[in-house]
Amino acid sequence: MADLHKAVVKGLAEDRGLYMPERIEKLPAEFFSNMSKMEFRDIAYNVASAFFGDDVDLDSLQDLVYDTLQFPCPVVKVKEHIYSLELFHGPTLAFKDVGARFMARLLQYFIKQEGRHETVNVLVATSGDTGSAVANGFLGVEGIHVYVLYPKGKVSPIQECQFTTLGQNITAIEVDGVFDDCQRLVKSAFMDAELNNHMKLTSANSINVARFLPQAFYYFNAVAQLSALGHQPSDITICVPSGNFGNICAALFGHQMGLPVKRFIAANNANDIFYNYLQTGVYTPQPSKQTLANAMDVGDPSNFARIINLYSQNGQLSSEETHQRITSLISGATYSDEQIKETMRQCYSETGYILDPHGACGYRALEEQLKPGEIGIFCETAHPAKFKEKVDEILGIDVEIPARLAAFMKGQKQSVPMTKDFADFKAFLLAQ
Ligand SMILES: *Cc1c(COP(=O)(O)O)cnc(C)c1O
Repeated sequence: MADLHKAVVKGLAEDRGLYMPERIEKLPAEFFSNMSKMEFRDIAYNVASAFFGDDVDLDSLQDLVYDTLQFPCPVVKVKEHIYSLELFHGPTLAFKDVGARFMARLLQYFIKQEGRHETVNVLVATSGDTGSAVANGFLGVEGIHVYVLYPKGKVSPIQECQFTTLGQNITAIEVDGVFDDCQRLVKSAFMDAELNNHMKLTSANSINVARFLPQAFYYFNAVAQLSALGHQPSDITICVPSGNFGNICAALFGHQMGLPVKRFIAANNANDIFYNYLQTGVYTPQPSKQTLANAMDVGDPSNFARIINLYSQNGQLSSEETHQRITSLISGATYSDEQIKETMRQCYSETGYILDPHGACGYRALEEQLKPGEIGIFCETAHPAKFKEKVDEILGIDVEIPARLAAFMKGQKQSVPMTKDFADFKAFLLAQ
């Protein structure tokens, strides 16, 4: 346990464990009954106050939330009983924008409060979307330098230019390895005493509470919008395409705060570690597999421990009881690249809605698992134009590139080549 300040500035606890909020406050019934009439940013401010209100003065927190949520997050009907929660209207067209921006502002708030003069260095490993969201969320934020580690040749060209062309306080590091290597380098850097004496380090992966918790805002807003359309919250099934499980974990925190939905589905690509846990009760991490939905190519989801913690009552329940509680609320799904393509084509021809490969996993899981009377909502986690090459090829169309995405593509790529050997990465950081 630690205060929020420490959890945000340090990112990862000394024992390599993940910080968890000490207690999760239920929001008042009055908030839930008014929610469907409230604006997104005010819903978010109410949720943020419950999470962060003890550690951040409320005026600053309101500024922070309003600054973060300068874009809409609409619920779009795709077909009868199935809605898309479009999380891609932020600056980099992916849902991670909210957490990244919020974390940048919160970190800045704490740094100011400390009167610190030393630069804080943010390390972030990315398989694509995290890097762009974090880099853009932190761009130009004084007192903070960001290092984005990404696997060479394994992120889409559009994703790559979203974090390699920015300059200023953003350094992109191109690692000759896979995503898991990038994540390992970041974790090792945290645990290295010499490095930590040399420079102040923190993480902006979803292991950082300030990054993943703000994603809970989306789910309150989604339920508010569906309620405004006349649906009962108790009929709602939320389906989240998942990789590191930060996004669904935020939704589950929302549920613990009283968000009155029926159940959740975690949709996976071929990286089926969580799916297998649900079936067997045994968690077996695997090397990550490369798929079409590459932002979900994670073989050892770092937020799994948080989910266990949430449902084991801080480790008080047995693993069988914990598993039983989890499976009564969350079901799983896993899809091959072939199934993802098939789903994208089928959805497009039936409804005209363009899914990206990540959202396709969510849509398909609802199609297969929604029960009579339920209303399904899946997260469309990225704009299809972020995966333009793939989407165009699969659907035989020419997806329009939004202007703010096109702007990135004009920049000059700059990155530092790196091996996957920690000694090299450490030497590079020591020289900064
Ligand atoms: C990050 C990401 C995911 C997975 O989210 P997690 O919080 O890691 O589970 C899914 N889709 C897209 C497009 C993403 O960028």
